[in-house]
Amino acid sequence: MIYKRSSALFAAAEKVIPGGVNSPVRAFKAVGGTPIFVKEAKGAYLYDEDGNVLIDYINSWGPMILGHAYQPVVDAVVEKAQKGTSFGMPTEIETQIAELAVSMVPNIDKIRFVNSGTEACMSAVRLARGFTGKDKIIKFAGCYHGHSDSFLIQAGSGAVTFGSPNSPGVTAGTAKDTLLANYNNLSSVEALIAANKNEIACIIIEPVAGNMGCIPPVKGFLEGLRTLCDANNILLIFDEVMTGFRLAKGGVQELYGVDADIVCFGKVIGGGLPVGAFAARNEIMNQLAPLGPVYQAGTLSGNPLAMAAGFAMLNELNNDKDVFKRLAEKTEYLHKGLARVLYNNNITHTINRVGSMISVHFDKANVIDFETAAKGNNETFKTFFHGMLNQGIYIAPSAFETWFITDALTYNDLDKTIAACDAVFR
Ligand SMILES: *Cc1c(COP(=O)(O)O)cnc(C)c1O
Repeated sequence: MIYKRSSALFAAAEKVIPGGVNSPVRAFKAVGGTPIFVKEAKGAYLYDEDGNVLIDYINSWGPMILGHAYQPVVDAVVEKAQKGTSFGMPTEIETQIAELAVSMVPNIDKIRFVNSGTEACMSAVRLARGFTGKDKIIKFAGCYHGHSDSFLIQAGSGAVTFGSPNSPGVTAGTAKDTLLANYNNLSSVEALIAANKNEIACIIIEPVAGNMGCIPPVKGFLEGLRTLCDANNILLIFDEVMTGFRLAKGGVQELYGVDADIVCFGKVIGGGLPVGAFAARNEIMNQLAPLGPVYQAGTLSGNPLAMAAGFAMLNELNNDKDVFKRLAEKTEYLHKGLARVLYNNNITHTINRVGSMISVHFDKANVIDFETAAKGNNETFKTFFHGMLNQGIYIAPSAFETWFITDALTYNDLDKTIAACDAVFR
């Protein structure tokens, strides 16, 4: 494929935007080459500035679970835009989407809307600290919770791809309150709790990890965290920015039947507009300003366009009884097809999958945590990435990313993808 126009657009962007991108994961640093500029998208397909059509497996990194330019979402946004795009005053649609989210997700009474997943996680941790009166937090190596200071300690995907897991600019003072455990390893959590008695406010986790590739929790892991939290007056925060409204209507809490104290949302909940949210039971949420002392605010929070897009999206997901089943079936079909052709071509690999999240790791070890995820062969990944791209299949330009399956993908698209994978390695 030819990327003349994309290359020119990227060169122009690099002059005025650091690295030419507004978020590092969009750069092609890990795989080489220049990012593709997208012109428009519809359903499962991207149309780039060079006239190529690509089958999209990133889908804005998750939000477009029903495909691009999904009509009910587009209609809702267009209709709202005619009536004013921001007021800084309450609007009815904020209550409507809040009621719907509260009805879909277990264990939450109230929800506060913000503008990104980063803000959701940052605010959730502040709330947990305010509620418990304790300072320290536990996070897991390879989990990503946005780019706020406390979380840039061995964060996954973007931060790992770019080799700066501990970013300059994060102070030692902040970093010392973030304790690092290993995913799927309960004893690493127990050791931290024992060494920091009565100091830990919360454990924050991606209950199905998606930012070091897709890594499911092993049996008993989330349940074990729940028990540890209950025994030590620690709040359990599920960062469902990626998994919420994707793996099930009620997210991972519903999927695995484990209760969180605070849940963070982003991505799907905004239907493709900038939205995040965090939610909990009344006792916790009532600590938030203006009801309680924990401050949190936002000029554009609950923005009517964003709320209209999110409300339309959640309604579709709530009303379609089979959508999560269909998504899981498509993903399983892709998994089996990719595994078959990789095996036939003698390519060492492991594929992880939960619902509509899937990732291919070029290593034979089970990928269960950050250490095993980091072992994948990056040279094979680069070959794979560019080989797929040349055949019109757009996957994330990093081995640490999950693919996001959308309901707009047809089985014909999946077959093309499997055939393309075969062609890369044959
Ligand atoms: C994407 C993501 C975030 C950050 O959300 P932004 O909207 O990019 O700030 C936080 N947590 C998880 C699990 C994510 O996947």
